[in-house]
Amino acid sequence: MKSQINVIRDLDRSAGSPFIQSIDRRAFLRLGGFAGLAGLCWALTPAHLAFAATPPVYCNPNRPMTPADALAALASGNELWATGQQQHPGEDSTRRTCVAEYGQTPFAAILSCSDSRVPPELIFDQGLGDLFVVRVAGNSDTVVGQQSLAYGVDHLGALALMVLGHEECGAVKEAIKNFPRPAPVFLNIIYPAVRKARMIVRQSGGDPDNPDLVLPVAVNQHALLTAARIGTQQPFRGLVNQGALAIAAGVYSLDDQTVTVLTT
Ligand SMILES: [Zn+2]
Repeated sequence: MKSQINVIRDLDRSAGSPFIQSIDRRAFLRLGGFAGLAGLCWALTPAHLAFAATPPVYCNPNRPMTPADALAALASGNELWATGQQQHPGEDSTRRTCVAEYGQTPFAAILSCSDSRVPPELIFDQGLGDLFVVRVAGNSDTVVGQQSLAYGVDHLGALALMVLGHEECGAVKEAIKNFPRPAPVFLNIIYPAVRKARMIVRQSGGDPDNPDLVLPVAVNQHALLTAARIGTQQPFRGLVNQGALAIAAGVYSLDDQTVTVLTT
């Protein structure tokens, strides 16, 4: 319950954020004249679709259709995971056959860490075709990763993009340890978050040279800065401005398995 409450409360608080908007214009455009019939599309056969203007086939009958609903679905799935009530949706033969035949229509794109303890499909309790995932150590924004995310939101129609950091991230730990010396790119790219985290710790009266104090702050700052940076790029910025995409930063707790949406 805690995760759901935290996330929804944070989502509410973020309603005015440039990164979180909830208008479903793109969902409407993608449905064309079939808005509201998404559930039926799931059951249509190829013969039925022959006369339709090739609307997307949603293999997930519960697929969210707005950015706000997409974020809410992530929150709901995480609550199921955190409370041990996973439903493992979209793993059966029906879903497997559907996505193979009709393609994928993921409702969210996730940029997360490669850490084996943080698999997005599991911690959000989602099925095949639901999440378009880019994973890299430290959940950093790279050229290839950003182009992959662009494909997920612009071509495949994902409605939410979440940058997901996590507690005890090894990449962030290494960045803190090496800062500010020259380091491999995957650590250097985390340095801005380390710099900001050290400042925040110092301003709150803590010791910026204490890695235990800096780590959780740097994890949060890295997710926030990464989400903000992606939001300045195209096609993400345009989609957000159209109300067709929500960009959020989140952090996963290894302790209680909850995802908390971060705000600046
Ligand atoms: Zn990590």
